[in-house]
Amino acid sequence: MKAPAAQVVPQAIGQYDRGCVAGAGNLAINGPGWQVMRLSRNRFWGHPVLLAYIRKLASDAQRLDGSPGILVGDMAQPIGGPLLGGHASHQTGLDADLWYTPMPDHVLSGAEREHTAAVNMVDPATLTAAQAAWTEVQIKLLRRAASYPEVARIFVHPAVKKALCEAAGADRAWLQKIRPWYRHDDHFHIRLNCPPGSPACVAQAPLPAGDGCGKELDDWFKRLRAVPEKPVKPPAPAKPMLVSDLPQECQSLLIATEQAGKAAGGNSSRQAPFER
Ligand SMILES: [Zn+2]
Repeated sequence: MKAPAAQVVPQAIGQYDRGCVAGAGNLAINGPGWQVMRLSRNRFWGHPVLLAYIRKLASDAQRLDGSPGILVGDMAQPIGGPLLGGHASHQTGLDADLWYTPMPDHVLSGAEREHTAAVNMVDPATLTAAQAAWTEVQIKLLRRAASYPEVARIFVHPAVKKALCEAAGADRAWLQKIRPWYRHDDHFHIRLNCPPGSPACVAQAPLPAGDGCGKELDDWFKRLRAVPEKPVKPPAPAKPMLVSDLPQECQSLLIATEQAGKAAGGNSSRQAPFER
């Protein structure tokens, strides 16, 4: 198992899409109310605040909302940094993808975790939440997920945001953190605020006021109807991010981690903590 540098004070460093995390921990692959998917990717690492958040969400969702449990997708690599394919962010140990698909009632095998497909919640023809898949389970989970102060934003597909706007009723404050974005039709993306003790962590701009159910959402649908999303994930950017593009603290962390790996007799190329 790849491991981050030991004895490090946890710190999220840099921007969500240009940074790293020191002192990350790994989420247990099974816990009360969650299971981790795609173990071969080794992306179940995060700042301790992210691990605590997922544990708390899974437990509260089961206890308070009758949740069947949560399937956890990509978090971060052992020291964060850029991921190959699919994501620009997930670099500082504060981002996690959770599936809309409810957790099955058995412990998943390694093969199931690799190959089970996440259920798409959006009907691409109508750009509405899909009839069969979209239920109270997802609505309650998203409301619960947005309810904690450490959450900065939750990214969902615009059709999911619209379904939440329609389901919310009078209690709408939580909708402010639910942000429409491309491609979040089979998972939603939790982003936590910079935690205390991370002076080099760069926060995003504050959220716009309001529940985001009006003009902003209408504009998303106009955009999606004008240029429909392709069903496949876009390729990785032509110019991959280099280690030298990252904050200095991350470059130092990378060197220290590689040296620790070599001192422990590891093969440094096999143990490279960044995909690059
Ligand atoms: Zn994500």
